[in-house]
Amino acid sequence: MIIQNFINGQFVDPLQNKWLDNFCPADGEIYGKIPDSDHEDVEVAYIAAKSAFQTWSRTTVEDRSKILIKLADLIEDNLERLAEAESEDNGKPVKLAKTVDIPRAAENFRFFAHAITQFSSESHETIGQDAINYTLRQPIGVVGCISPWNLPLYLFTWKIAPAIAAGNCVIAKPSEITPLTSFMLGELCNEAGLPHGVLNIVHGIGQNVGHAIVVHPDIKAISFTGGTQTGAKIAIAAAPHFKKLSLELGGKNPNIIFADCDYENMLSTTIRSSFSNQGQICLCGSRIFIEQSLYNQFKSDFVAQIRRLKVGHPNDENTDIGALVSKDHLEKVLDYVKIAVDEGGKVLCGGEQIILKGFDDGYYMSPTVIEVKSDDCRANREEIFGPVVTIMPFTSEQEVLDIANKVDYGLSATIWTNNLNRTMRLTHAIHSGIVWVNTWMLRDLRTPFGGVKQSGLGREGGLEVLRFFTEPKNVCIKY
Ligand code: NAD
Repeated sequence: MIIQNFINGQFVDPLQNKWLDNFCPADGEIYGKIPDSDHEDVEVAYIAAKSAFQTWSRTTVEDRSKILIKLADLIEDNLERLAEAESEDNGKPVKLAKTVDIPRAAENFRFFAHAITQFSSESHETIGQDAINYTLRQPIGVVGCISPWNLPLYLFTWKIAPAIAAGNCVIAKPSEITPLTSFMLGELCNEAGLPHGVLNIVHGIGQNVGHAIVVHPDIKAISFTGGTQTGAKIAIAAAPHFKKLSLELGGKNPNIIFADCDYENMLSTTIRSSFSNQGQICLCGSRIFIEQSLYNQFKSDFVAQIRRLKVGHPNDENTDIGALVSKDHLEKVLDYVKIAVDEGGKVLCGGEQIILKGFDDGYYMSPTVIEVKSDDCRANREEIFGPVVTIMPFTSEQEVLDIANKVDYGLSATIWTNNLNRTMRLTHAIHSGIVWVNTWMLRDLRTPFGGVKQSGLGREGGLEVLRFFTEPKNVCIKY
């Protein structure tokens, strides 16, 4: 499988004809090549995008919306094919790709096709001065979208859809670890009638082609999702150019469980919030705090259920936990288990690489629960981003709030309780961009999405992201 760049509606090789290997996490085999693009490819993409912007920015909202809806329909028509590709490229269970990743990619286009028709701007009558102010919300121009490997098409389209709905043209770079479904998106864009040059996709390494997008002087905004350290590098590189920046970064999310919760619902949801997508979701609740009086019961039920999860080949419909995304990532996650043990943690289940019969070189690992004595250990403070959670008891609301807020991250938090007053106190006091109460990852695309502290800058979703992808210009008319 040869993946090519998608520039000006054409599939093209990288100018320097350099290529990278693409690995299949399920068996560790190389199954394709992807372009190792650089700044020259970005420049060609930029010229195409700049030219397309002349027309696209003046295309009516209704016409843009129709194309995005068509693209959403085409993603749905190709659901099986895209889900199989996503699973092959990423290692996630194909059933997850079919039910979550690909439907959501379609929904991203459908949602912003509608949202843009409802996007309005403000006007202010300046009484006493015979003047009226109104605010234009104009597309920015050519923008850059850079996405990670954990939810490849889902997060790639989460950026692209609002950017083009708002009238921008895009240069997008998917993760070099999972390039396949974004490559397939190119052909669907052509089929949907998206004018050439509106979306350009360049593949390659972050420090190389990603950096070239970030420092391109005429790419005016960067929407990035990925690791916190990469986000910091991007912020530094973009600063001298005064670009608009949206940074969606890492998380170390607390899952706080009080004894008065709806136990069965909490238990089944906590299994999901811990291990969905092999724990490789920025929103996973990887620090679990349980009220002391419930601790022993939770620990024994949770571990018993985790042991029943099936680690298997992503194609197997019975698989709960597929392969981790890469060999390097598997090694990083296994290292964290060692670190946790060295710091006094006790592995209650899992913690090991799994060699799957017939797929010996695949990147499999058992779902892991570590009981920690103190929240100060590295396993409890640093993002592991794999099938590893820590558990720890707490005795008071204030204690658990302090612990929850102590880490550098602040993306999401989950609280399980039926006490309304406690819910109100905690949701106000917790340091995170998103709080779920008695649920997890229930998403409404109209809501602001993003984190505080080292989890990011700015918000995606709903009208927030349409504001990001437009430049407000105020006009004051004296009459
Ligand atoms: P990463 O930071 O390594 O890479 C993300 C993207 O940035 C990739 O496309 C990569 O090629 C590119 N990149 C790398 N260095 C770059 C540079 N110097 N300049 C420009 N681009 C560069 O992240 P990852 O390992 O792909 O993804 C995992 C991380 O993403 C985790 O930390 C996870 O929490 C985070 N994440 C956050 C959210 C969120 O919404 N907050 C969602 C998903 C994942």
